[in-house]
Order: sequence, then structure tokens, then C-alpha cells
Amino acid sequence: MKTFNLCLLLVNLAIVVYSLPILPPTEEDEALAETYLKKFFNLTEETGPMFRRGPSQRSRKVSEMQRFFGLKVTGTLDAETVKMMKKPRCGLPDVHIGRFTTFNNLKWPTNQLTYRVCNVNIYHFALLHWAPINHGDFYPFDGPEGTLAHAFSPGADIGGDAHFDDDEYFTFSSTRGYNLFLVAAHEFGHSLGLSHSNDPGALMFPVYSYTDPSTFSLPRDDVTGIQYIYGPNPDVNPNADKPDPTPVSTPDACDPTLVLDAVTTLRGEKMFFKGRFFWRIYPQSSKPHQNLIKTFWPELPDNINAAYESQLSDRVFLFKDHQVWALYGYDIVPGYPRNLKSLGLPRTVKKVDAALYDEHSRKTLFFVGDNYYSYDEEMKSMDRGFPKRVDEQFPGMTSKVTAAFQVRGFTYLYSGPYVFEYNMRTRRQFRVLGNNYFLPC
Ligand SMILES: [Zn+2]
Ligand SMILES: [Zn+2]
Repeated sequence: MKTFNLCLLLVNLAIVVYSLPILPPTEEDEALAETYLKKFFNLTEETGPMFRRGPSQRSRKVSEMQRFFGLKVTGTLDAETVKMMKKPRCGLPDVHIGRFTTFNNLKWPTNQLTYRVCNVNIYHFALLHWAPINHGDFYPFDGPEGTLAHAFSPGADIGGDAHFDDDEYFTFSSTRGYNLFLVAAHEFGHSLGLSHSNDPGALMFPVYSYTDPSTFSLPRDDVTGIQYIYGPNPDVNPNADKPDPTPVSTPDACDPTLVLDAVTTLRGEKMFFKGRFFWRIYPQSSKPHQNLIKTFWPELPDNINAAYESQLSDRVFLFKDHQVWALYGYDIVPGYPRNLKSLGLPRTVKKVDAALYDEHSRKTLFFVGDNYYSYDEEMKSMDRGFPKRVDEQFPGMTSKVTAAFQVRGFTYLYSGPYVFEYNMRTRRQFRVLGNNYFLPC
């Protein structure tokens, strides 16, 4: 049994080594990191250039940043960390780790606020101000991309002012530039006294990601934060015809009723999708890291239906309605999305509920309602004689399969908040588990 475990371990190591080519950071990346960590994570300048301060201080700051963003905590400038540092974001620091934070409880003494708009061109908005790189507040902007805007906490003079980088392309649209509504709403959070949150679903998360403004409602973390400062709204229901929208909570791995959208492995990691979010678990750490799908892949949709990893082609496939995307590592493969029909699924199949790659037979099972289809990964074609009923292959599985994957040779079918463990070859069901079995909280 020991030999067997060792074999598995070696296989895992091989996958990990293969999947994470560690390239040394370029000089450009080092310079970016130095600026980024000084600006957002309070890296001090006292002892000269970063590399001369030795690995410990730099490493500590990199780790702090990785923890804040739910990245793998390595303390080194890996590709994923550099990528996150290049994302468009707010110019205020992230030094406090936690859900919503405040500027030492700085607040406005009244709940009746006034505002004015300066430097207006189109909707060029001292609270809302379009500013060039150097604009007199010791916080210069950085030209296009990078920092989009910043704002000051409540107080006298420039307190409460929000500045928008004049070199950015702000729009009201989803596809081009940066959506002004979303950037302004975030900055006004600062103007009212909120600092950054590490809740990836919060408006006060420092990195920009697009959400449809027409359906936007203030997330729970931000509501909790602003009510912590100013108290709850005294008008229980100020307008009976139009009740306040319910704040949206970020999915919680500890929620016993959590129903995942899709699960898959990716080169030794495990990935769990839910709504706008996904969690990752690395082989070396059992703690799940939560991120927004859009932060990693702005072009991917939310609410993924199904996902699987084909070890044969070293691709992860993600399904939403009639479309499928392929990932190679964390990169979207060019030429996607493709239509479900490209896999040979019949036209009547409008969406896939779950997908599972069986390492032993090299077949992928697509679950659609009570049925499943079988796809041959080597032949790249659908097998004949399908669909079949799910409970033929998986006795006892009579409710809809919502997600599926294989781990260490066992097959796991998710249905609602439960996970059913099977041996594919003997068709035997072993255990019924909770979500927390793979996704601890
Ligand atoms: Zn901010
Ligand atoms: Zn400014």
C-alpha cells in the first residue's frame, strides 16, 4: 500500500513540476513589483533597493499581496503574481487584510451629503475630478492602464474628493474601456469612509472587473461596511413599490446548502465554480482560495454549467449554455468558444449539466438531465449507443448530476449539496459526502 501511495505522490509531483514552469522574473517585473508593493502594500524605502534588502522583507510583502488576492502564497514573483500586479485597479493601498475595512472610522458628520463635479468634458465630474498624471495631491497617476482612480477619506479640504485618471478610456459600455459607473461607485465608497476589502465579490475589492451595471446591487460586504460606519438605513422601506434590492453575498464554502455549478481538476489543482466565483485548491495547500472568474478570464461568462480536465490533451473545458471554452494551464486556447455541436453532441442538447473525464477509459461523460453521453477523447467523437440513463452506470443516482470529477481514481458526482462517491468499473457507490469533503472552509 505504501508503494502505491508513493507512486501517486510521484505522479502528482510530475504534474506539478510539468505545469509550473518557473521562469525568473524579468528586470521589468522586478521594477513593477517594487513600485506596486511600495504603493499598495507599504513596502518601505529606508534600506535601499528591494534586492539589497534581502529576500525576507520582499518575500513578506509578496506573500502579503498574494494572501490578499487569494493567490498561491509563494513569497516569490511568479507569473500569476506579476499578472495580478498588471491588472487595472484603484490607486489606494491594500495594507489591511480582511473583509471590509474603514479609514480608522473616519466619517462624515451628516447623512445629507452634497457634491460637485470639476473638470467636466463629457460627464467630466472637488468630489469628482478628472485629473492628469500630476495633479497636485502627491499621488500622481500612471498614464493608461494600471491605476484608474483614487479618492480621499472623509475630512477637510480634499477629504472625500475622487480623482479619475484622465488617460483612461472611461465608458458606459461593457466591452470597451472601463465602466465609469463601477469605478466611480468604488471611489465613492472611499469618499464615504470605506477602505479596501479582500472579498473578491465586494465593490471595494481593489481590482477592476466588469459587472453589468443595470443589474448591479451593492454586495453584502459593502453594505455591512457602510452600515458599520453610518448605521442601518432608518427608513425600513422608503419606497414600498420598489423595495431595496437584497445585497448579494459572496458564496461561502462553509454554507452547508451550497450547490456548486461545476468542479474540475487542473494539473493537480482542484477548481470549484459558483456564480461569479471560483475556488482553487493546490496540492501543497488544502486551504481554498476564492477569486472572481472575471479577474482571471475577463472573457469567460459567470455561472459556468460544467467543467472537465482531459489529461489526454492537457486541456480544461468549461461549458456555458451552447458554448465551450478550452484552457491550457490558465490561458484560454485561441479559437474558442466553440459550439457544443463541435463535440458531436446532438442539436437537442442546449446545455450540459456536468462533465467528467474517466482517466481509465479516456472517455468523457456529459450529463444532460437524467441521461449521459460518452465522448471518446482519443477519437474525438461521440460514442454510439448514447444517451443512456445516468442510474444505469451509477446505481442510486436518481437526482440530477450538477457537477462531477475524478480524484485518485474515484468518481464523484455532485447533486445539490451532496457528493456521491463511485467506482466507475464496479458501478458501486461507496459514500455520500458533503461539499466540505473537497472544499474545506
Ligand atoms: Zn479603492
Ligand atoms: Zn489625486
